[in-house]
Amino acid sequence: MDKMEHPPQPFATSPPYPYPQPPPPPPQQPHTVIITGAAFGTEPQSMVCPHCRANISTRTETEANTKTHLFALLLCVLGCWCCAPCPYCTDSCMATKHYCPSCGSYLGASEN
Ligand SMILES: [Zn+2]
Repeated sequence: MDKMEHPPQPFATSPPYPYPQPPPPPPQQPHTVIITGAAFGTEPQSMVCPHCRANISTRTETEANTKTHLFALLLCVLGCWCCAPCPYCTDSCMATKHYCPSCGSYLGASEN
């Protein structure tokens, strides 16, 4: 005589949780503001210097960047010899570099 009935297994399946699990806590946002180079514009920027922790307004210097040289080279290739120095006189072709007036550290540059 076969017994088709299986013995009861009360702990075979995990019982459902009586209460919903609390959601995981949201990740803590750091309070330190990380200013990347892309945040710099052509104007002096108020910020906290990451090197000396002083509240400063950045000192800016415009310098020729790679794009400036490429523009000048392109003008030379095109035969516009007289226009070749123009990129060096145009602010939009120059990079603005930001320095800390307190400690003199280089903080970043804006590429126009
Ligand atoms: Zn500084």
